[in-house]
Amino acid sequence: MKIHEYQGKEILRQFGVPVPRGIPAFTVQEAVEAAQKLGGPVWVVKAQIHAGGRGKGGGVKVAKSIDEVRELAGRMLGMQLVTHQTGPQGQKVRRLYIEEGADIGKEFYVSVLTDRATQKVAFIASSEGGMDIEEVAAKTPEKIVKVFVDPLVGLTEAQARELAAGIGMEGHTADQAVTLFQNLYRCYMETDASLVEINPLNRDSKGNLIALDAKFNFDSNALFRHPEIVALRDLDEEDPAEVEASKYDLAYISLDGNIGCLVNGAGLAMATMDTIKLFGGEPANFLDVGGGATAEKVTEAFKIMLRNPNVKAILVNIFGGIMRCDVIATGVIAACKAVNLNVPLVVRMKGTNEELGKQMLAESGLPIISADTMAEAAQKVVAAVAGR
Ligand code: ADP
Ligand code: MG
Repeated sequence: MKIHEYQGKEILRQFGVPVPRGIPAFTVQEAVEAAQKLGGPVWVVKAQIHAGGRGKGGGVKVAKSIDEVRELAGRMLGMQLVTHQTGPQGQKVRRLYIEEGADIGKEFYVSVLTDRATQKVAFIASSEGGMDIEEVAAKTPEKIVKVFVDPLVGLTEAQARELAAGIGMEGHTADQAVTLFQNLYRCYMETDASLVEINPLNRDSKGNLIALDAKFNFDSNALFRHPEIVALRDLDEEDPAEVEASKYDLAYISLDGNIGCLVNGAGLAMATMDTIKLFGGEPANFLDVGGGATAEKVTEAFKIMLRNPNVKAILVNIFGGIMRCDVIATGVIAACKAVNLNVPLVVRMKGTNEELGKQMLAESGLPIISADTMAEAAQKVVAAVAGR
């Protein structure tokens, strides 16, 4: 789960990481009032969307008067902000953050993330903040320093010093950095984040550090113990199909292809997508209806898949273990009737009550293409998309 910059900065503040004063605003009037409350002489008007690269896309602007704040807020609210992370359609700006203008000295980069390869927490820092870290990694990898933290030990002072020194911090800046990094590590652990990124971390003309941006990703499997973080969720920023699916407890992820997939079990769903790709097709989604799918759940799953205009065919791949094939057949038939299915449907079922399920599908009168093996199912659905 992601949150907005202003929400992330509030969390950073709670963990003792310095951030500028700021106030969120949903309207131009609120933006003006926020600026008045903060007092000048310089404000930054920042579009709040769940994507980075806002600065380059025109979503971060400096204002030197209240009138300028009003004008910028008017221009930014409602705009379709396009950044390298939003895709070409951009993301609509519905919230702003009005922040006091910081005294920019030197911009650094810091992030904390789960590193699966080492099974540790990676703490990454760079002297080249404010720009894309991917670009720094590609062009000047020597300017990135990393330490790997044993979660049982935590970030030691020595590691924090190594990071600070590695990105050229000295004197009281380095002392501040050590405390900041340790607070940031605690913040990452205690919120069950999978990523916390500060880009840029600014060193002002007096050598003091302050976080000018905040990006958080949270481990969704840990959200049950963080109601305060769940409360920060902004559904406007999420894929509508994924939001809809989550209401029915369906594990659904949108993808770019044109073959809708309905599968029970995450492992089988992954294998199904692989098989589709093996035969030259592209899945339109990952969808795991789970072990206890009812006819209603299958119907909702069909509706969600078919709302995607790119879907040109559907592949249902079910292993009837706890889930019986006749129950799935009932669901598939009900769903086809409820949604007026108008794309080819390939069904492959194996397991408990397989014969009964197949018989029900055959007798339903619906134009269902059946298949026995995964390879056959994938080949048939790829052929159906190609109109063969
Ligand atoms: P994004 O990463 O989405 O482009 P940032 O919050 O990093 O957005 O802002 C982009 C740039 O704008 C920063 O690198 C920094 O130079 C400047 N900036 C952001 N916030 C402030 C602020 N409060 N005061 C001064 N400059 C800022
Ligand atoms: Mg940034």
